[in-house]
Amino acid sequence: MQPMDAERRYGAHNYEPLQVVLARGEGAYLFDVEGRRYVDMMSAYSAASHGHAHPRILGALAEQAQRLAVPSRAYYNDRLGPFLAELCRLTGLDAALPMNTGAEAVETAIKAARRWGHWIKGIPADRATILVADGNFHGRTTTIIGFSSEPAYRDGFGPFAPGFRSVPFGDIAAIERAITPETAAVLVEPIQGEAGIVVPRAGWLRSLRQLCDANHVLLILDEVQSGLGRTGAWFAFQHEGIVPDGLVLGKALGGGVLPVSAFVGRREVMDVFTPGSHGSTFGGNALAAAVGLEALHVIADEGLVERSRVLGAHMLARLRAMKSPLLTQARGCGLWVGAEIDPRFASARAVCERLLERGVLSKETHDTVVRLAPPLVIERQDLDWALDRFEETLAEVARKPQPVPA
Ligand SMILES: *Cc1c(COP(=O)(O)O)cnc(C)c1O
Repeated sequence: MQPMDAERRYGAHNYEPLQVVLARGEGAYLFDVEGRRYVDMMSAYSAASHGHAHPRILGALAEQAQRLAVPSRAYYNDRLGPFLAELCRLTGLDAALPMNTGAEAVETAIKAARRWGHWIKGIPADRATILVADGNFHGRTTTIIGFSSEPAYRDGFGPFAPGFRSVPFGDIAAIERAITPETAAVLVEPIQGEAGIVVPRAGWLRSLRQLCDANHVLLILDEVQSGLGRTGAWFAFQHEGIVPDGLVLGKALGGGVLPVSAFVGRREVMDVFTPGSHGSTFGGNALAAAVGLEALHVIADEGLVERSRVLGAHMLARLRAMKSPLLTQARGCGLWVGAEIDPRFASARAVCERLLERGVLSKETHDTVVRLAPPLVIERQDLDWALDRFEETLAEVARKPQPVPA
């Protein structure tokens, strides 16, 4: 049985993959089972920011795997401390709690915010509320999808947990109106990824920081996708010169080889966790810690943050110079751009299918946005090659439109 048929026959149908079967990856390249090479303009939603099969990360993985992998948190291990210390140094925060997937780290942030609200702020028991933003994406647990505004994520999965309220993204007045004495935290992405790389206006995050301070409300940023160099800064919050009270990291933290996530926060916030109150069998295991630490070192040593900034500006400038009626907007920050496709010509999906034929791997988000987010290690000529293919694709679709049915 062919791999695609086997996935369809034996798998749940919770994804709709593009028609390619990948077998190998190296840097910014992916290869299919026939050996055909593609330029990766997706980076596994930023999980592969370091590129595929990074030699230093594979080295750390192999070396640590042979020494100690999963000893559990019932004991100390000699890898976790250095990893947490580096997370604190880079973020400017005080303490970190390791988990595995992004959603788990978001759940950790929610628990921290609620306990902080009840125990420190003095909100009456079980009354703490967290404000979130319309269009948010924070993962797929039942609690998290309960405050999603995307019907496809929610339909049929209720009943949902109370305690969340959603307000328009990037609208400081809306958050101000929504804050009550029972508000424990605001939880947002500084730039919304799955919503289509939605960049709020400059100054919004700084205003939000001030608003949270004035109301004794925690500011918790989900940088699972925007963090670790993706936007041309280590963290997107640095573009606005602020520091959050809590920060959620994941995806690239695993160096493209393991699920590694963390909730990082101020000491006062982290200290609401007491022995037995939270945990994860795999979180903070020695293998994940060794890989996570190496992933952080590689970003620093290879100047990947600066690469993202410079190449990202180049990518955005090239996209904005493309004179195509299909491309109604290109927006983003660093090597993280959403290209908005006019649905009168084609769906973003159809554009991704044409790109695939030309050797470029991307992925649509919603119906109209093509995401362009290559590994931060991509060479400029490979980026330009992929952007040339993108421009050709736009021209091809403009000649043969496949409009999205209204
Ligand atoms: C991907 C993502 C998550 C969820 O991460 P998983 O590892 O898939 O659970 C959470 N928040 C943001 C902003 C994300 O992009």
